[in-house]
Amino acid sequence: MNFAVSPTPMSDESLIGYLVRLIHLNGYRYMRRILNKPLINAAVSNKTEEVSNALGRQLPYPNYEVTAINTLWSLPTLTQARICLKCIDEHGYIKAEVQNPFLTHCSQHAIELLDTCPTCNRQLRWETKLIKGHCSECGLRLSTANTPSLPALSQPEVADCLLASAMLEPGEKPYFIEPKLCTLEHIATRVKRGYNLLTSERQFKVWVLKLLRQFPASAPQTMCLYDVEYLFERLQTQWPVQQLRETCYQACYVSRAEPADCPVIPARQAATVLNISLETLSTLTPSQIVRNPGICRVHARTKIDFSPLLEVLPLYSPQEQMVPISNQIKLLQRYDLDLANLLIARCDGKIALAYRRNACFYSSIYCDPKDLVRLGEEELKQRSNRAEVVTLEMAMRLTGLSQEELYCRRKNGFLPVPKYFQSGSNSLFYISDLVKLIRINNKLEA
Ligand SMILES: [Zn+2]
Ligand SMILES: [Zn+2]
Repeated sequence: MNFAVSPTPMSDESLIGYLVRLIHLNGYRYMRRILNKPLINAAVSNKTEEVSNALGRQLPYPNYEVTAINTLWSLPTLTQARICLKCIDEHGYIKAEVQNPFLTHCSQHAIELLDTCPTCNRQLRWETKLIKGHCSECGLRLSTANTPSLPALSQPEVADCLLASAMLEPGEKPYFIEPKLCTLEHIATRVKRGYNLLTSERQFKVWVLKLLRQFPASAPQTMCLYDVEYLFERLQTQWPVQQLRETCYQACYVSRAEPADCPVIPARQAATVLNISLETLSTLTPSQIVRNPGICRVHARTKIDFSPLLEVLPLYSPQEQMVPISNQIKLLQRYDLDLANLLIARCDGKIALAYRRNACFYSSIYCDPKDLVRLGEEELKQRSNRAEVVTLEMAMRLTGLSQEELYCRRKNGFLPVPKYFQSGSNSLFYISDLVKLIRINNKLEA
């Protein structure tokens, strides 16, 4: 590609910014009339080789320091147009660093980078008008005078703000976004919105209240505040609202209006709040403990209807001998039971469960430890009858024996290698053999 004027690229110049300057200096007004779309896209996503080859001259690799990570995209390259007005006025070119999404201010001039026209409010685009400091859309002179002023934030802080802002967005939740290029319009507004959520008690309360309203009063806290937990787990820096979580939750819980009745949540969220896998979650749907209203198998985005569970469980309040499941984790592990097993057993009339809303499902669901032992024994028996095999890890948990002790018994002929498993069968055990072993041990102890 030949141009009459071919300016020297600056070492810290943005690749797309160089194209803007090139087109402008050659007297053209519109980028897209002169350059094809793939080339513009290559420049926007910092593909230096591709652009250098097309222009027939080596351009500098965009170089800026990134000190934050983000789950929302894999490449820290902002594709939307953004400029520092002072850089334009003083140097006449756009620096590469404006494409670092974790930067809100020019590193040299310490003024806010502009991505939105303060007059027409539209997102700036990579066009020649930018190089004169004019809006690419309405053509008027840009100014930083009445932009929302952001405090100077570190890059990890900006990353936190962007994630917080994404949590508030309608539509796709951040936990379903596939990492890709950072295409964010009005990034300054987003950072500001996320910053407000993370620093303002009032804004945080509004959010918590909105989340709570989606669920019935009986839903445990981990279910209602899944989004808050998701965000807090991924924050890279400390924010004021993290201290407020509990008090805010209590206040909102009391002040909320008539609770909702039909929570439909993504399967991934459903599995997390029940602390089971997606596969296990799908074993609950045939019994209608939770509903899958669609016709597809359960996958991460399947919407799961919790109303059957949250309508039935709260009807039964705990009896004296009943204890929250969260206090009986050791028993559950010993019998290889999870919450799904218990809920199905309850459905089949094998165990009595009660419910008192608490922080999570495990601390809200109650049962009699004696019933749990009985159920555990019964389940093990059935699995023995089906000639089920388990892994070494599970065998250790079931018997309470160490790896050495188990293999020692195998050597002595007590725990034969399962027949039908060729590879890796040395680390597999028949449940029936393990149950026999437990019986013997119990008798010895007695
Ligand atoms: Zn600057
Ligand atoms: Zn404008």
